[in-house]
Amino acid sequence: GVALATTLAACGSSTKTADKAAASGGSAAGALVGVTMPTRSSERWIHDGDNVKAGLEKLGYKVDLEYANNDIPTQANQIENQIAMGAKVLVVASIDGTALSNQLQAAHDKGIKVIAYDRLLMKSANVDYYASFDNYKVGVQQATSLLVGLGFKKEDGSDAATPPTAPVNIEVFAGSPDDNNAPFFFRGAMDTLKPYLDSGKLVIKSGEKDFNTVAILRWDPATAQKRMEDLITKTYSSGAKVQGVLSPYDGLSIGILSALKSAGYGTAGQPYPIVTGQDAEVASVKSIIAGEQYATVWKDTRKLASLAVSMTDEVLKNQAVPTNSTDYNNGAKVVPTEVLDFSTVYKDNYQHVLIDSGYYTAAQLK
Ligand code: BGC
Repeated sequence: GVALATTLAACGSSTKTADKAAASGGSAAGALVGVTMPTRSSERWIHDGDNVKAGLEKLGYKVDLEYANNDIPTQANQIENQIAMGAKVLVVASIDGTALSNQLQAAHDKGIKVIAYDRLLMKSANVDYYASFDNYKVGVQQATSLLVGLGFKKEDGSDAATPPTAPVNIEVFAGSPDDNNAPFFFRGAMDTLKPYLDSGKLVIKSGEKDFNTVAILRWDPATAQKRMEDLITKTYSSGAKVQGVLSPYDGLSIGILSALKSAGYGTAGQPYPIVTGQDAEVASVKSIIAGEQYATVWKDTRKLASLAVSMTDEVLKNQAVPTNSTDYNNGAKVVPTEVLDFSTVYKDNYQHVLIDSGYYTAAQLK
């Protein structure tokens, strides 16, 4: 905080010089930026792509924005094309963080800078910066919202006055094993649940609690639905009920809730378990308003996009890029990182968090 501010203040004069250089037609002006996003199947990436493109264009840059339909070779090709088109910076939200090393090497060889967007690019030294949220803390918040819904905690994170006394049955899910964020979310969540699991207040009744066992490849909702169906059949067919589900992403939560619905949950006599989420996608916010999904972690994609835009601008103008985290080692180096904060959305605060902030209109959530 303070140290960074001082450094930035000290950089003030050289920054202005760089600005002038760019304004007077340096290599930055009008440069092409390649932006690659994983998929259009989830709203958040559509918002991210649109916001990054608009922000860069506003600064006068040209943008090639591509989506890869969650297909790794497609994304690799898109990046190769952007390199061939003469992109000066690549902003990459990867599908498999380890699968792009050749493309990143080719970029590096041409002096192209690379910014990992939301998901860290792994096992390559050719990653210049990383723009993301505090991914471990996202997991902490997901578990905290589960504990709130189950009556152990209050929304401010403090202990509830009258927590449940009988053991509570939960199941846990994790995200895609090739996405470096997924283990961060899962560790943050499991560290938060650990004291409750250790003391027997929470019970993962299926016994399935290792990341690799509970991870859902490519964050696929249908795979999560299938796993929830299997858990219900294997573990909950003789009377026991599942009372909480740790889900790391709204798309998975939708699959999980629909498996539960088919098994008779979601009625007055048998309410849905507490189900968490991430991204505040429209369908899931509606589900929260309807009392189905319990909560979601909302990361403001407008803020992440503008962070990536300013990083790109700074890189192109040879300015210092502010960073605030050294937590992200990609296996080849510690990638200079700026992480952003985020909020948890519940039924009682969605209006304030999502509508008053202008992220959604009231009509979108009707
Ligand atoms: C993102 C999450 C998202 C998930 C599935 C993660 O890398 O950080 O916001 O829910 O991918 O798209």
